[in-house]
Amino acid sequence: MTPEIIEQEIIVTPGIPQRTFADLNLSDEILQAVTEMGFVHPSPIQAEAIPPILAGRDVIGQAQTGTGKTAAFGIPAINMIDVAERHPQVLILCPTRELAVQVSEEIRKLSKFKRGIRIEAIYGGDSIDRQIKSLKTGVHIVIGTPGRVMDHMERRTLKLDNVRMMILDEADEMLDMGFRDDIESILEDMPEERQTILFSATMSKPIMTITQRFQKDPVLVKVVRNELTAQNIEQVFFEVKPKAKVEVMCRLIDMHNLNLLLVFCNQKKRVDEIVEDLQVRGYQAEGLHGDLRQAQRNNVMSKFRSGVTNILVATDVAARGIDVDNVDAVINYDIPLDEEYYVHRIGRTGRAGKSGKAFSLVGKDEKYRLREIQNYTKVRIEKGVIPSFEDIVGLRKARFIEQVKQSIETSTDLNLYDDLLTALHHSGFTTEQIVSALVKRGMGIEKNEFSDQNLGHDDDRRERKEGGSRFGDRGGRGESTGRFGDRSRGESGSRFGDRGGRSEGPSRFSERGTRGESRFGDRERTPRFGAREEGRKFERDDNRAPREQEANMTRLFVSVGRRDFIRPGDIVGAIAGEANIPGSSIGHIDIFDKHTYVDVPRDVANRVVDVMEGNTIKGKRVQIEVAR
Ligand code: AMP
Repeated sequence: MTPEIIEQEIIVTPGIPQRTFADLNLSDEILQAVTEMGFVHPSPIQAEAIPPILAGRDVIGQAQTGTGKTAAFGIPAINMIDVAERHPQVLILCPTRELAVQVSEEIRKLSKFKRGIRIEAIYGGDSIDRQIKSLKTGVHIVIGTPGRVMDHMERRTLKLDNVRMMILDEADEMLDMGFRDDIESILEDMPEERQTILFSATMSKPIMTITQRFQKDPVLVKVVRNELTAQNIEQVFFEVKPKAKVEVMCRLIDMHNLNLLLVFCNQKKRVDEIVEDLQVRGYQAEGLHGDLRQAQRNNVMSKFRSGVTNILVATDVAARGIDVDNVDAVINYDIPLDEEYYVHRIGRTGRAGKSGKAFSLVGKDEKYRLREIQNYTKVRIEKGVIPSFEDIVGLRKARFIEQVKQSIETSTDLNLYDDLLTALHHSGFTTEQIVSALVKRGMGIEKNEFSDQNLGHDDDRRERKEGGSRFGDRGGRGESTGRFGDRSRGESGSRFGDRGGRSEGPSRFSERGTRGESRFGDRERTPRFGAREEGRKFERDDNRAPREQEANMTRLFVSVGRRDFIRPGDIVGAIAGEANIPGSSIGHIDIFDKHTYVDVPRDVANRVVDVMEGNTIKGKRVQIEVAR
């Protein structure tokens, strides 16, 4: 939206601008800093926004995180500071504490060679006394969240009389978060003679109202859309049944060997569910949502930044300001409700000239939203093929063989455990049996209830039956012709001479090959639980007929259920851990309101009852017995 009041509009076009930082008329101190930060060329938004800001104009920058917007306003802000005047000259408002910290860090780096400059971030959750002390000693650039800034203004510990530049960062987000009144009060309290810079990813009506009220003759610098939806991001969607989304996500992670990824969902209550489902499957996932305290947020973020956590699950609002490079992929667990959100989400990957992937898991009722996004971004999002179980097994086998080869070739003490082999021979096992058992353990193949046919939309299945879809969907048979999942059956089949335990046709379980071996740098990953499937699918109404029991399994009654917030992972974790049996050996779990039925192998049933009786699950003491 370009309102009439804006007379000057600069459209920032994609590509590396021809300008250099030296062309921008910056002080030597700043040039030295950008060089040290490794910036070679100004980003498009910097090249176009810095000159008018330096010239004293009010500017609206339509740009999102990842475009270099912080330096676009940070550089001119630093440039105009007179260090001899020891009071706030620039005020930057940010929607979240996290963003305030990030902005202050970036500005600190940019001002490294400007001697005597003082920068302070003030935000809720941090000690106000410490902030007051710091403000008293004379700060030049204050970066704060609206609430805390107001707080300091009311205490008169922050005076804005000498502020000459006011910057609103992620203004749309601040409005969305309900800071409108605070922002208006702050702006009203500032000197008339000032420069007002507003950065926003979207130009909504409320944003335009703010600019009309508080900016003078602003220049609009706008990053065009095809730059927002960067070319180096491979965008693919998968049609997935809602209950199969986690399964499909795991297959994609395995298939593409994704190391660092962001998973977005629309509701904060979903965040915890997805995290739990991923953790249960042995992935290092953590969640970020608005209910976390600042310390928790910092903890989650620092684990993600350092790679301890590979997967960050977040809502759009909570993810605002996350600034992590090297994100391999963004997965849209849900399709966002707003097209701009899609652009924001996928902009987290494919940064700094690297390529990235954006995978969208589309439920049937989300298809229209995907269409809207494509219309909006003018980018065609390709339909992808869900990797089949066989694809994953093939991949794991190839990786396994690589690892074994490497161990044989590089180990100098391969004979170290020969005595174990001898001991197992003495127990009556053949070498072949032992090797097979070890391979099985190493491959970590697990069973779950998802067959390949059970992942996509029903009409996909029909398409397959009728001879395959337009996109070459292979209906779980492994012959991939799509852009993704190009592990052909030929490769995994002929190379290994077996079909990897794939279940033919719809079955309760299909084997999955996603554990034991790490997707993450070949570290051995030990699942927290002997993982089972997504909780909800095991739950059912009390009035449904009990399932048929499998041979060799004994059904146990456990005195906790849904109202104790029990999920399948809790049952599997407790039983597998306490009775020391593999989680994968545990069968059906039916969770009812007040109790749960779980199938365990017949030969360990008594042991399970013995160790679990009177034990606790999720903090609740349980009674357990063989079900009648
Ligand atoms: P931002 O859009 O401000 O969140 O910036 C995203 C990332 O790009 C940050 O890590 C910046 O340090 C980095 N960055 C900003 N400007 C440039 C530039 N001109 N060249 C390379 N990296 C940059």
